[in-house]
Amino acid sequence: ARQAREDHWTHEDFLQEVLATEITSREVSAVRHRLREARFPETKTLDTFDFKAVDGVDAALVAALARGEWISKAENVILAGPIGTGKTHLAIALGVEATRQRRRVAFWRVADLVRVLVEARDTRDLTRLHRRLERMDLVVLDELGFVPFDRTAGGLLFNLVTERYEKRSILVTTNLAFSEWPKVFGGDEKLTAALLDRLADHATVITTKGKSYRL
Ligand code: ADP
Ligand code: MG
Repeated sequence: ARQAREDHWTHEDFLQEVLATEITSREVSAVRHRLREARFPETKTLDTFDFKAVDGVDAALVAALARGEWISKAENVILAGPIGTGKTHLAIALGVEATRQRRRVAFWRVADLVRVLVEARDTRDLTRLHRRLERMDLVVLDELGFVPFDRTAGGLLFNLVTERYEKRSILVTTNLAFSEWPKVFGGDEKLTAALLDRLADHATVITTKGKSYRL
């Protein structure tokens, strides 16, 4: 207000300046809110990812995914590869980019989500949990394959994937080859095939290779 007075702004200029400032501040807090809502385990971004340090990851492809159109189209991303090759880093980084576009993201380690799904079923809270997840533009499922689950749990995860199919996006990271997925789903080949079918139908698959970055 002082600046406006001293520089003799018109009322219109003053109003425009006030509204523009308000819009910027709302955008910043919306993004901050999205970021908090996503519950990333740590902050990883694309600018700290060294594409030269890992085989199989095409920088141009990742840059295209960072623009987020795949999320608008309810497509999926699968990041597969050995431990320590940057899958979680990329998953978080793509999730962070999505929140910057004001998209709603939820990050889950698969084992945690499966546990919460089972708990929700036991307490008859499954519908509410599903509705909450439905509102997310992107659900990140990190570390499929580390912890196998029984058929009930596999079925609950299957339902989630089916619900999102062609409606909302999923990003999966896994240390398993597709042929090994039934092992995680209690040996249920049929269920796994149906789940993979839906997941991979409109999906970008990135296979990371090489030694662990940590080592
Ligand atoms: P994964 O999920 O495949 O097991 P992570 O994404 O957790 O591997 O990577 C392990 C650690 O190494 C993380 O701290 C990650 O930030 C880092 N890292 C992995 N690959 C790269 C890379 N290409 N450039 C920079 N940091 C990397
Ligand atoms: Mg990981």
